[in-house]
Amino acid sequence: MADYIYTLETRLSPDQQKAVTLVLDAAKAAEMNLYLTGGAIRDIITGFPIRDLDFTVQGNALKLHKDLERAGAVVGDADDETRTLLLTLPGGVRAEIAMARSERYDKPGKAPQIAPATISEDLRRRDFTVNAMALSMNEGSRGLLMDPFNGTADIEAKVIRVLHNYAFLEDPSRMIRATRFSTRFHWPLEERTQARYESGKENGYIEYIRSSSIGYEIEQLAYEDDPYGVLKAYEKEGWLKVLNPRWSTAKVDTAGLGALMKTRQQMNELGYTPEVAPAVLHFLTERLGDKDISDLRRAIPRKDLVESWKDLDANAHSLAKRLSGKEAGTPGRTWQLLSSARPEMILFLAITARQQAVAQKIKNFFTKWRQVQQKIPLPEMTELRITPQMPEYAKIANDVFLLLLDGKLRSRTETLKYLKPLAPPPPPPPPPAPTKRGRGGKAAAAAVPAAASAKPGAKGKGKTAAVPATQAQVAPVPASKPAAPAKPVSPAKPAKAAKPRVEKPTGKRPQAKNKAKRKTKPKLQRKKK
Ligand code: ATP
Ligand code: MG
Repeated sequence: MADYIYTLETRLSPDQQKAVTLVLDAAKAAEMNLYLTGGAIRDIITGFPIRDLDFTVQGNALKLHKDLERAGAVVGDADDETRTLLLTLPGGVRAEIAMARSERYDKPGKAPQIAPATISEDLRRRDFTVNAMALSMNEGSRGLLMDPFNGTADIEAKVIRVLHNYAFLEDPSRMIRATRFSTRFHWPLEERTQARYESGKENGYIEYIRSSSIGYEIEQLAYEDDPYGVLKAYEKEGWLKVLNPRWSTAKVDTAGLGALMKTRQQMNELGYTPEVAPAVLHFLTERLGDKDISDLRRAIPRKDLVESWKDLDANAHSLAKRLSGKEAGTPGRTWQLLSSARPEMILFLAITARQQAVAQKIKNFFTKWRQVQQKIPLPEMTELRITPQMPEYAKIANDVFLLLLDGKLRSRTETLKYLKPLAPPPPPPPPPAPTKRGRGGKAAAAAVPAAASAKPGAKGKGKTAAVPATQAQVAPVPASKPAAPAKPVSPAKPAKAAKPRVEKPTGKRPQAKNKAKRKTKPKLQRKKK
Protein backbone atom coordinates (compact mmCIF):
# COMPACT_ATOMS: atom_id res chain seq x y z
CA MET A 1 0.00 0.00 0.00
CA ALA A 2 1.27 3.44 -0.85
CA ASP A 3 2.49 5.44 2.12
CA TYR A 4 0.28 8.47 1.66
CA ILE A 5 1.40 10.19 4.86
CA TYR A 6 4.99 10.09 3.66
CA THR A 7 3.93 11.43 0.26
CA LEU A 8 1.80 14.05 1.96
CA GLU A 9 4.68 15.22 4.10
CA THR A 10 7.05 15.42 1.18
CA ARG A 11 4.57 17.19 -1.07
CA LEU A 12 3.24 19.81 1.32
CA SER A 13 5.09 23.08 1.78
CA PRO A 14 6.42 23.72 5.31
CA ASP A 15 3.55 26.18 5.88
CA GLN A 16 1.00 23.61 4.69
CA GLN A 17 2.53 21.01 6.99
CA LYS A 18 2.20 23.40 9.92
CA ALA A 19 -1.39 24.06 8.87
CA VAL A 20 -2.16 20.33 8.97
CA THR A 21 -0.70 20.07 12.48
CA LEU A 22 -2.61 23.11 13.63
CA VAL A 23 -5.95 21.79 12.35
CA LEU A 24 -5.21 18.33 13.70
CA ASP A 25 -4.51 19.79 17.16
CA ALA A 26 -7.78 21.74 17.09
CA ALA A 27 -9.73 18.66 15.96
CA LYS A 28 -8.09 16.50 18.64
CA ALA A 29 -8.91 19.04 21.34
CA ALA A 30 -12.54 18.98 20.18
CA GLU A 31 -12.43 15.16 19.99
CA MET A 32 -13.34 15.08 16.32
CA ASN A 33 -11.95 12.74 13.71
CA LEU A 34 -10.14 14.60 10.96
CA TYR A 35 -9.70 13.67 7.30
CA LEU A 36 -7.91 15.37 4.48
CA THR A 37 -10.27 15.29 1.51
CA GLY A 38 -10.91 16.70 -1.94
CA GLY A 39 -8.31 18.18 -4.22
CA ALA A 40 -5.36 17.75 -1.86
CA ILE A 41 -5.63 13.96 -2.04
CA ARG A 42 -6.10 14.07 -5.81
CA ASP A 43 -3.07 16.32 -6.17
CA ILE A 44 -0.91 14.18 -3.88
CA ILE A 45 -1.54 11.25 -6.16
CA THR A 46 -1.28 13.11 -9.46
CA GLY A 47 1.75 15.15 -8.49
CA PHE A 48 0.05 18.46 -9.34
CA PRO A 49 0.71 21.31 -6.93
CA ILE A 50 -1.39 21.17 -3.76
CA ARG A 51 -3.18 24.50 -3.83
CA ASP A 52 -5.41 24.37 -0.78
CA LEU A 53 -6.29 22.00 2.02
CA ASP A 54 -9.81 20.65 2.30
CA PHE A 55 -10.47 18.99 5.64
CA THR A 56 -13.53 17.13 6.79
CA VAL A 57 -14.32 16.49 10.43
CA GLN A 58 -16.84 14.14 11.88
CA GLY A 59 -18.66 16.71 13.98
CA ASN A 60 -19.52 20.38 13.82
CA ALA A 61 -16.56 22.16 12.21
CA LEU A 62 -17.83 25.54 13.40
CA LYS A 63 -16.87 24.53 16.93
CA LEU A 64 -13.21 24.84 15.89
CA HIS A 65 -13.64 28.49 14.91
CA LYS A 66 -12.34 30.13 18.12
CA ASP A 67 -9.50 27.68 18.64
CA LEU A 68 -8.27 28.15 15.10
CA GLU A 69 -8.47 31.91 15.33
CA ARG A 70 -6.41 31.78 18.50
CA ALA A 71 -3.85 29.75 16.57
CA GLY A 72 -3.57 32.51 13.96
CA ALA A 73 -6.21 31.53 11.39
CA VAL A 74 -8.24 34.17 9.59
CA VAL A 75 -11.77 32.95 9.11
CA GLY A 76 -13.04 34.17 5.73
CA ASP A 77 -16.47 32.62 6.08
CA ALA A 78 -18.41 30.37 8.41
CA ASP A 79 -21.34 28.67 6.75
CA ASP A 80 -24.04 27.66 9.21
CA GLU A 81 -25.89 25.46 6.76
CA THR A 82 -23.06 23.11 5.85
CA ARG A 83 -21.05 23.92 8.98
CA THR A 84 -18.01 24.79 6.97
CA LEU A 85 -15.18 27.19 7.76
CA LEU A 86 -13.20 28.90 5.01
CA LEU A 87 -9.83 29.84 6.44
CA THR A 88 -6.50 31.35 5.71
CA LEU A 89 -3.98 29.70 8.01
CA PRO A 90 -0.58 31.16 8.97
CA GLY A 91 1.74 31.40 5.99
CA GLY A 92 -1.20 32.20 3.69
CA VAL A 93 -2.37 28.57 3.54
CA ARG A 94 -5.90 28.38 2.16
CA ALA A 95 -8.04 25.78 3.87
CA GLU A 96 -11.59 24.63 4.28
CA ILE A 97 -12.90 22.57 7.16
CA ALA A 98 -16.30 21.01 6.60
CA MET A 99 -18.52 18.85 8.71
CA ALA A 100 -18.90 15.36 7.25
CA ARG A 101 -22.42 15.41 5.86
CA SER A 102 -24.95 13.60 3.78
CA GLU A 103 -27.00 15.47 1.20
CA ARG A 104 -30.44 14.51 -0.02
CA TYR A 105 -31.77 16.24 -3.12
CA ASP A 106 -35.53 16.30 -3.36
CA LYS A 107 -35.88 18.73 -6.25
CA PRO A 108 -33.49 20.35 -8.70
CA GLY A 109 -32.85 23.97 -7.74
CA LYS A 110 -33.65 23.32 -4.14
CA ALA A 111 -30.95 23.12 -1.54
CA PRO A 112 -30.29 19.56 -0.42
CA GLN A 113 -31.29 18.33 2.97
CA ILE A 114 -28.15 18.21 4.99
CA ALA A 115 -27.42 15.94 7.93
CA PRO A 116 -24.25 15.18 9.91
CA ALA A 117 -22.74 11.94 8.66
CA THR A 118 -19.75 9.66 8.73
CA ILE A 119 -16.83 10.23 6.41
CA SER A 120 -17.92 7.29 4.22
CA GLU A 121 -21.35 8.84 3.69
CA ASP A 122 -19.74 12.23 3.08
CA LEU A 123 -17.66 10.85 0.23
CA ARG A 124 -20.88 9.83 -1.52
CA ARG A 125 -22.03 13.44 -1.86
CA ARG A 126 -18.89 14.50 -3.72
CA ASP A 127 -18.65 15.68 -7.31
CA PHE A 128 -16.18 13.42 -9.12
CA THR A 129 -14.47 10.14 -8.33
CA VAL A 130 -11.04 11.81 -8.32
CA ASN A 131 -12.30 14.18 -5.60
CA ALA A 132 -14.13 11.58 -3.52
CA MET A 133 -11.24 10.30 -1.44
CA ALA A 134 -10.28 10.87 2.15
CA LEU A 135 -7.05 10.35 4.04
CA SER A 136 -7.35 9.68 7.75
CA MET A 137 -5.27 11.92 9.99
CA ASN A 138 -6.35 10.11 13.14
CA GLU A 139 -4.37 8.03 15.55
CA GLY A 140 -4.90 4.38 14.85
CA SER A 141 -5.84 4.86 11.18
CA ARG A 142 -3.48 7.66 10.19
CA GLY A 143 -2.58 7.33 6.53
CA LEU A 144 -5.54 5.12 5.63
CA LEU A 145 -6.91 6.13 2.23
CA MET A 146 -10.63 5.81 1.71
CA ASP A 147 -11.40 5.59 -1.99
CA PRO A 148 -14.88 4.04 -2.38
CA PHE A 149 -15.29 5.10 -6.04
CA ASN A 150 -11.84 4.04 -7.17
CA GLY A 151 -10.71 7.59 -7.82
CA THR A 152 -7.11 6.42 -7.98
CA ALA A 153 -7.92 4.39 -11.10
CA ASP A 154 -9.54 7.44 -12.72
CA ILE A 155 -6.51 9.52 -11.85
CA GLU A 156 -4.41 6.90 -13.55
CA ALA A 157 -6.73 6.94 -16.56
CA LYS A 158 -6.81 10.76 -16.43
CA VAL A 159 -10.58 11.09 -16.66
CA ILE A 160 -13.25 13.02 -14.83
CA ARG A 161 -16.18 10.87 -13.83
CA VAL A 162 -19.28 11.71 -11.83
CA LEU A 163 -20.35 9.44 -8.99
CA HIS A 164 -23.84 8.75 -10.33
CA ASN A 165 -26.27 9.63 -13.11
CA TYR A 166 -27.97 12.48 -11.26
CA ALA A 167 -24.83 14.35 -10.32
CA PHE A 168 -25.39 17.29 -12.70
CA LEU A 169 -29.11 17.42 -12.11
CA GLU A 170 -28.71 17.53 -8.35
CA ASP A 171 -26.07 20.19 -8.43
CA PRO A 172 -25.57 21.91 -11.81
CA SER A 173 -22.49 23.75 -10.53
CA ARG A 174 -20.75 20.42 -11.07
CA MET A 175 -20.97 21.09 -14.82
CA ILE A 176 -18.96 24.27 -14.28
CA ARG A 177 -16.56 22.36 -12.08
CA ALA A 178 -16.23 19.64 -14.72
CA THR A 179 -15.21 22.29 -17.25
CA ARG A 180 -12.76 23.81 -14.78
CA PHE A 181 -10.99 20.55 -13.88
CA SER A 182 -11.02 19.34 -17.46
CA THR A 183 -9.38 22.59 -18.59
CA ARG A 184 -6.89 22.64 -15.74
CA PHE A 185 -5.70 19.06 -16.01
CA HIS A 186 -6.40 18.56 -19.72
CA TRP A 187 -8.36 15.47 -18.72
CA PRO A 188 -11.48 14.63 -20.73
CA LEU A 189 -14.81 13.75 -19.15
CA GLU A 190 -15.36 10.01 -19.07
CA GLU A 191 -17.73 8.91 -21.82
CA ARG A 192 -20.92 8.55 -19.79
CA THR A 193 -20.11 11.64 -17.78
CA GLN A 194 -19.71 13.51 -21.06
CA ALA A 195 -23.12 12.27 -22.21
CA ARG A 196 -24.72 13.41 -18.92
CA TYR A 197 -22.96 16.72 -19.23
CA GLU A 198 -24.28 17.30 -22.78
CA SER A 199 -27.76 16.33 -21.74
CA GLY A 200 -27.54 18.66 -18.71
CA LYS A 201 -26.48 21.49 -20.99
CA GLU A 202 -29.29 20.84 -23.48
CA ASN A 203 -31.89 20.58 -20.78
CA GLY A 204 -30.83 23.80 -19.08
CA TYR A 205 -29.98 22.26 -15.73
CA ILE A 206 -27.82 25.30 -15.08
CA GLU A 207 -30.93 27.39 -14.43
CA TYR A 208 -31.20 25.54 -11.16
CA ILE A 209 -27.77 26.46 -9.92
CA ARG A 210 -27.82 27.82 -6.38
CA SER A 211 -26.48 31.32 -5.82
CA SER A 212 -24.07 30.07 -3.15
CA SER A 213 -22.50 27.78 -5.76
CA ILE A 214 -22.11 30.69 -8.18
CA GLY A 215 -20.16 32.64 -5.57
CA TYR A 216 -18.02 29.62 -4.76
CA GLU A 217 -17.11 29.06 -8.42
CA ILE A 218 -16.28 32.74 -9.00
CA GLU A 219 -13.92 32.49 -6.06
CA GLN A 220 -12.29 29.32 -7.36
CA LEU A 221 -11.44 31.06 -10.65
CA ALA A 222 -9.15 33.40 -8.75
CA TYR A 223 -6.95 30.51 -7.68
CA GLU A 224 -6.51 28.87 -11.06
CA ASP A 225 -3.01 28.88 -12.50
CA ASP A 226 -4.44 29.75 -15.91
CA PRO A 227 -7.55 31.74 -15.02
CA TYR A 228 -7.92 33.15 -18.51
CA GLY A 229 -7.84 29.67 -20.02
CA VAL A 230 -10.61 28.57 -17.66
CA LEU A 231 -12.60 31.75 -18.31
CA LYS A 232 -12.39 31.11 -22.07
CA ALA A 233 -13.62 27.55 -21.54
CA TYR A 234 -16.50 28.88 -19.40
CA GLU A 235 -17.43 31.31 -22.12
CA LYS A 236 -17.42 28.56 -24.73
CA GLU A 237 -19.57 26.30 -22.59
CA GLY A 238 -21.97 29.11 -21.64
CA TRP A 239 -21.01 29.14 -17.95
CA LEU A 240 -19.47 32.59 -17.81
CA LYS A 241 -22.76 34.36 -18.21
CA VAL A 242 -24.08 32.22 -15.39
CA LEU A 243 -21.44 33.66 -13.09
CA ASN A 244 -22.30 37.16 -14.31
CA PRO A 245 -24.51 37.97 -17.30
CA ARG A 246 -22.20 40.71 -18.58
CA TRP A 247 -18.93 38.89 -18.07
CA SER A 248 -17.00 37.90 -21.18
CA THR A 249 -13.40 37.44 -22.22
CA ALA A 250 -13.61 40.96 -23.71
CA LYS A 251 -13.90 42.35 -20.19
CA VAL A 252 -10.54 40.90 -19.18
CA ASP A 253 -7.33 42.89 -19.17
CA THR A 254 -5.36 40.09 -20.77
CA ALA A 255 -2.12 42.08 -20.91
CA GLY A 256 -2.38 42.87 -17.19
CA LEU A 257 -3.22 39.28 -16.36
CA GLY A 258 -0.34 37.98 -18.47
CA ALA A 259 2.07 40.42 -16.81
CA LEU A 260 0.76 39.39 -13.38
CA MET A 261 1.43 35.71 -14.01
CA LYS A 262 4.84 36.38 -15.53
CA THR A 263 5.96 38.68 -12.71
CA ARG A 264 4.64 36.23 -10.14
CA GLN A 265 6.77 33.53 -11.72
CA GLN A 266 9.83 35.76 -11.58
CA MET A 267 9.13 36.57 -7.94
CA ASN A 268 8.70 32.88 -7.16
CA GLU A 269 12.14 32.26 -8.62
CA LEU A 270 13.54 34.84 -6.22
CA GLY A 271 11.82 33.15 -3.28
CA TYR A 272 8.75 35.37 -2.92
CA THR A 273 5.32 33.75 -2.87
CA PRO A 274 2.79 36.51 -3.35
CA GLU A 275 -0.90 35.60 -3.18
CA VAL A 276 -2.22 36.62 -6.60
CA ALA A 277 -5.92 35.75 -6.29
CA PRO A 278 -7.13 39.32 -5.56
CA ALA A 279 -5.11 40.70 -8.47
CA VAL A 280 -6.38 37.90 -10.74
CA LEU A 281 -9.94 39.00 -9.98
CA HIS A 282 -8.95 42.60 -10.63
CA PHE A 283 -7.68 41.85 -14.12
CA LEU A 284 -10.41 39.33 -14.98
CA THR A 285 -13.04 41.97 -14.30
CA GLU A 286 -11.10 45.08 -15.38
CA ARG A 287 -13.67 46.18 -17.96
CA LEU A 288 -16.82 45.19 -16.12
CA GLY A 289 -18.99 47.97 -14.72
CA ASP A 290 -18.98 48.89 -11.05
CA LYS A 291 -22.35 47.29 -10.40
CA ASP A 292 -21.25 43.95 -11.84
CA ILE A 293 -18.03 44.06 -9.87
CA SER A 294 -19.89 44.69 -6.63
CA ASP A 295 -22.30 41.85 -7.50
CA LEU A 296 -19.36 39.51 -7.98
CA ARG A 297 -17.80 40.65 -4.72
CA ARG A 298 -21.00 40.09 -2.83
CA ALA A 299 -21.29 36.58 -4.19
CA ILE A 300 -17.80 35.45 -3.15
CA PRO A 301 -17.94 33.64 0.19
CA ARG A 302 -14.37 34.25 1.27
CA LYS A 303 -14.53 37.78 2.65
CA ASP A 304 -10.80 38.23 3.23
CA LEU A 305 -10.30 37.66 -0.50
CA VAL A 306 -12.89 40.31 -1.33
CA GLU A 307 -11.29 42.80 1.07
CA SER A 308 -7.86 42.28 -0.46
CA TRP A 309 -9.32 42.72 -3.93
CA LYS A 310 -11.00 45.96 -2.87
CA ASP A 311 -7.83 47.29 -1.23
CA LEU A 312 -5.52 46.63 -4.16
CA ASP A 313 -5.73 50.05 -5.80
CA ALA A 314 -5.46 52.05 -2.58
CA ASN A 315 -2.52 50.00 -1.31
CA ALA A 316 -0.67 50.25 -4.60
CA HIS A 317 -1.28 53.98 -4.66
CA SER A 318 0.12 54.41 -1.17
CA LEU A 319 3.20 52.30 -1.93
CA ALA A 320 3.76 54.30 -5.15
CA LYS A 321 3.59 57.50 -3.14
CA ARG A 322 6.15 56.28 -0.63
CA LEU A 323 8.41 55.12 -3.44
CA SER A 324 8.26 58.60 -4.96
CA GLY A 325 9.13 60.36 -1.72
CA LYS A 326 12.13 60.89 0.53
CA GLU A 327 11.63 57.53 2.18
CA ALA A 328 12.96 56.04 -1.05
CA GLY A 329 15.56 58.72 -1.67
CA THR A 330 18.46 56.33 -2.23
CA PRO A 331 18.70 52.79 -3.60
CA GLY A 332 19.44 51.55 -0.07
CA ARG A 333 16.38 53.20 1.40
CA THR A 334 14.23 52.02 -1.49
CA TRP A 335 15.55 48.52 -0.91
CA GLN A 336 14.58 48.69 2.74
CA LEU A 337 11.15 50.06 1.91
CA LEU A 338 10.45 47.36 -0.66
CA SER A 339 11.87 44.63 1.58
CA SER A 340 9.31 45.48 4.20
CA ALA A 341 6.38 45.86 1.76
CA ARG A 342 4.01 42.95 1.19
CA PRO A 343 5.04 40.98 -1.91
CA GLU A 344 1.45 41.18 -3.20
CA MET A 345 1.62 44.96 -3.22
CA ILE A 346 4.97 45.05 -4.99
CA LEU A 347 3.67 42.62 -7.58
CA PHE A 348 0.50 44.59 -8.25
CA LEU A 349 2.33 47.90 -8.38
CA ALA A 350 5.01 46.46 -10.66
CA ILE A 351 2.27 45.91 -13.22
CA THR A 352 0.09 48.93 -12.68
CA ALA A 353 2.59 51.70 -11.79
CA ARG A 354 2.01 54.79 -13.89
CA GLN A 355 5.16 56.67 -12.92
CA GLN A 356 8.20 55.47 -14.76
CA ALA A 357 10.44 56.15 -11.73
CA VAL A 358 8.37 53.89 -9.49
CA ALA A 359 8.32 51.07 -12.02
CA GLN A 360 12.09 51.44 -12.46
CA LYS A 361 12.71 51.18 -8.72
CA ILE A 362 10.73 47.96 -8.51
CA LYS A 363 12.58 46.63 -11.53
CA ASN A 364 15.93 47.47 -9.92
CA PHE A 365 14.80 45.81 -6.70
CA PHE A 366 14.25 42.56 -8.54
CA THR A 367 17.25 42.73 -10.87
CA LYS A 368 20.16 45.16 -10.79
CA TRP A 369 20.33 45.80 -7.05
CA ARG A 370 20.34 42.12 -6.27
CA GLN A 371 23.59 41.78 -8.20
CA VAL A 372 25.28 44.10 -5.71
CA GLN A 373 25.11 41.15 -3.33
CA GLN A 374 27.96 39.64 -5.33
CA LYS A 375 30.18 42.44 -4.13
CA ILE A 376 29.92 41.41 -0.49
CA PRO A 377 33.39 39.96 0.18
CA LEU A 378 32.33 36.65 1.68
CA PRO A 379 35.71 34.87 1.78
CA GLU A 380 37.35 37.85 3.44
CA MET A 381 34.49 38.12 5.89
CA THR A 382 34.99 34.48 6.79
CA GLU A 383 38.67 35.16 7.30
CA LEU A 384 37.73 38.00 9.60
CA ARG A 385 35.48 35.53 11.45
CA ILE A 386 32.40 37.52 10.40
CA THR A 387 30.30 34.42 9.83
CA PRO A 388 26.62 33.56 10.21
CA GLN A 389 27.41 32.21 13.67
CA MET A 390 27.87 35.79 14.89
CA PRO A 391 24.70 37.23 16.39
CA GLU A 392 25.34 40.56 14.61
CA TYR A 393 26.05 38.87 11.28
CA ALA A 394 22.72 39.59 9.58
CA LYS A 395 22.91 43.26 10.49
CA ILE A 396 26.53 43.60 9.40
CA ALA A 397 25.82 41.89 6.08
CA ASN A 398 22.75 44.03 5.53
CA ASP A 399 24.62 47.23 6.37
CA VAL A 400 27.45 46.37 4.00
CA PHE A 401 24.95 45.56 1.29
CA LEU A 402 23.14 48.88 1.74
CA LEU A 403 26.38 50.85 1.78
CA LEU A 404 27.51 49.11 -1.38
CA LEU A 405 24.11 49.79 -2.94
CA ASP A 406 24.34 53.48 -2.15
CA GLY A 407 27.89 53.70 -3.46
CA LYS A 408 29.25 54.58 -0.02
CA LEU A 409 31.65 51.66 -0.18
CA ARG A 410 33.18 51.89 -3.61
CA SER A 411 35.88 49.27 -3.65
CA ARG A 412 36.86 46.02 -2.03
CA THR A 413 39.54 47.84 -0.06
CA GLU A 414 37.01 50.29 1.31
CA THR A 415 34.66 47.46 2.19
CA LEU A 416 37.35 45.55 4.04
CA LYS A 417 38.42 48.68 5.87
CA TYR A 418 34.86 49.06 6.99
CA LEU A 419 34.55 45.43 8.02
CA LYS A 420 37.81 44.97 9.90
CA PRO A 421 36.83 46.76 13.11
CA LEU A 422 33.64 44.71 13.19
CA ALA A 423 35.50 41.41 13.29
CA PRO A 424 35.04 39.46 16.50
CA PRO A 425 38.09 38.68 18.64
CA PRO A 426 40.05 35.58 17.85
CA PRO A 427 38.93 32.43 19.65
CA PRO A 428 40.43 31.96 23.13
CA PRO A 429 43.59 29.94 23.31
CA PRO A 430 43.13 26.25 23.83
CA PRO A 431 44.18 24.45 26.97
CA PRO A 432 47.77 23.31 26.78
CA ALA A 433 48.31 20.25 24.64
CA PRO A 434 48.62 17.01 26.60
CA THR A 435 52.23 16.29 27.12
CA LYS A 436 51.69 12.54 27.42
CA ARG A 437 53.65 10.50 24.97
CA GLY A 438 52.47 7.40 23.23
CA ARG A 439 49.17 6.64 21.48
CA GLY A 440 47.29 9.86 22.33
CA GLY A 441 50.13 12.02 21.11
CA LYS A 442 50.32 10.13 17.85
CA ALA A 443 46.64 10.49 17.19
CA ALA A 444 46.82 14.23 17.75
CA ALA A 445 49.66 14.53 15.32
CA ALA A 446 47.90 12.40 12.73
CA ALA A 447 44.88 14.65 12.86
CA VAL A 448 46.80 17.82 12.02
CA PRO A 449 46.53 17.71 8.22
CA ALA A 450 42.76 17.46 8.43
CA ALA A 451 42.64 20.50 10.66
CA ALA A 452 44.87 22.44 8.37
CA SER A 453 42.39 21.98 5.55
CA ALA A 454 39.56 23.53 7.55
CA LYS A 455 38.47 26.96 6.37
CA PRO A 456 40.09 29.84 8.13
CA GLY A 457 37.94 31.44 10.71
CA ALA A 458 35.83 28.38 11.28
CA LYS A 459 34.97 28.04 14.89
CA GLY A 460 33.04 25.82 17.15
CA LYS A 461 32.14 22.39 15.92
CA GLY A 462 33.92 21.96 12.64
CA LYS A 463 31.18 20.99 10.22
CA THR A 464 28.87 23.97 10.16
CA ALA A 465 31.52 26.52 10.88
CA ALA A 466 33.73 25.30 8.08
CA VAL A 467 30.99 25.79 5.50
CA PRO A 468 31.49 29.17 3.92
CA ALA A 469 28.62 31.62 4.15
CA THR A 470 26.57 31.46 1.00
CA GLN A 471 25.01 34.31 -0.89
CA ALA A 472 21.66 33.24 0.38
CA GLN A 473 22.79 33.58 3.96
CA VAL A 474 24.21 37.00 3.38
CA ALA A 475 21.84 38.54 0.94
CA PRO A 476 18.88 40.26 2.48
CA VAL A 477 16.26 37.64 1.85
CA PRO A 478 12.72 38.20 0.60
CA ALA A 479 10.75 39.56 3.47
CA SER A 480 7.35 38.08 3.94
CA LYS A 481 7.46 39.80 7.29
CA PRO A 482 8.75 43.34 7.45
CA ALA A 483 12.51 43.26 7.70
CA ALA A 484 13.99 45.00 10.71
CA PRO A 485 15.16 48.33 9.41
CA ALA A 486 18.92 48.36 9.33
CA LYS A 487 20.44 51.46 10.87
CA PRO A 488 22.43 53.42 8.33
CA VAL A 489 26.04 53.04 9.32
CA SER A 490 28.56 55.63 8.33
CA PRO A 491 31.51 53.92 6.71
CA ALA A 492 33.81 56.49 8.18
CA LYS A 493 32.85 55.66 11.77
CA PRO A 494 32.40 51.99 12.25
CA ALA A 495 34.06 52.11 15.65
CA LYS A 496 30.82 51.73 17.62
CA ALA A 497 30.31 48.23 16.46
CA ALA A 498 31.86 45.26 18.25
CA LYS A 499 35.18 46.45 19.51
CA PRO A 500 37.64 43.59 19.49
CA ARG A 501 38.16 42.41 23.05
CA VAL A 502 41.80 42.32 24.03
CA GLU A 503 42.93 39.10 25.56
CA LYS A 504 44.37 39.75 29.01
CA PRO A 505 47.69 38.08 29.55
CA THR A 506 47.34 35.66 32.40
CA GLY A 507 50.97 35.01 32.84
CA LYS A 508 50.22 31.33 33.11
CA ARG A 509 50.61 30.41 29.48
CA PRO A 510 53.02 32.70 27.72
CA GLN A 511 52.62 30.72 24.51
CA ALA A 512 48.89 31.43 24.23
CA LYS A 513 49.26 34.66 22.29
CA ASN A 514 51.13 33.01 19.49
CA LYS A 515 48.74 30.12 19.40
CA ALA A 516 45.80 32.39 18.95
CA LYS A 517 47.32 33.57 15.72
CA ARG A 518 47.53 30.02 14.42
CA LYS A 519 43.91 29.32 13.91
CA THR A 520 43.72 25.73 12.77
CA LYS A 521 45.92 23.83 15.13
CA PRO A 522 44.36 24.90 18.43
CA LYS A 523 40.93 24.18 17.08
CA LEU A 524 41.88 20.68 16.22
CA GLN A 525 43.30 20.04 19.63
CA ARG A 526 40.07 21.25 21.15
CA LYS A 527 38.10 18.98 18.93
CA LYS A 528 40.15 15.99 19.86
CA LYS A 529 39.21 16.49 23.45
P1 ATP B 1 -9.06 22.69 -6.15
O1 ATP B 1 -9.12 23.21 -4.76
O2 ATP B 1 -7.76 22.16 -6.56
O3 ATP B 1 -9.64 23.66 -7.13
P2 ATP B 1 -10.89 20.74 -5.19
O4 ATP B 1 -11.34 19.43 -5.77
O5 ATP B 1 -10.23 20.69 -3.88
O6 ATP B 1 -10.01 21.43 -6.27
P3 ATP B 1 -12.72 22.55 -3.96
O7 ATP B 1 -13.57 23.53 -4.64
O8 ATP B 1 -11.63 23.02 -3.10
O9 ATP B 1 -12.16 21.65 -5.12
O10 ATP B 1 -13.68 21.57 -3.15
C1 ATP B 1 -13.18 20.62 -2.23
C2 ATP B 1 -13.91 19.31 -2.39
O11 ATP B 1 -15.27 19.50 -2.06
C3 ATP B 1 -13.92 18.75 -3.80
O12 ATP B 1 -12.78 18.01 -4.08
C4 ATP B 1 -15.17 17.90 -3.76
O13 ATP B 1 -14.91 16.68 -3.14
C5 ATP B 1 -16.10 18.70 -2.87
N1 ATP B 1 -16.98 19.58 -3.65
C6 ATP B 1 -16.81 20.88 -3.94
N2 ATP B 1 -17.85 21.34 -4.65
C7 ATP B 1 -18.68 20.31 -4.82
C8 ATP B 1 -19.95 20.14 -5.45
N3 ATP B 1 -20.55 21.15 -6.07
N4 ATP B 1 -20.52 18.93 -5.40
C9 ATP B 1 -19.95 17.90 -4.75
N5 ATP B 1 -18.77 17.99 -4.14
C10 ATP B 1 -18.14 19.18 -4.17
MG1 MG C 1 -9.58 22.35 -2.82
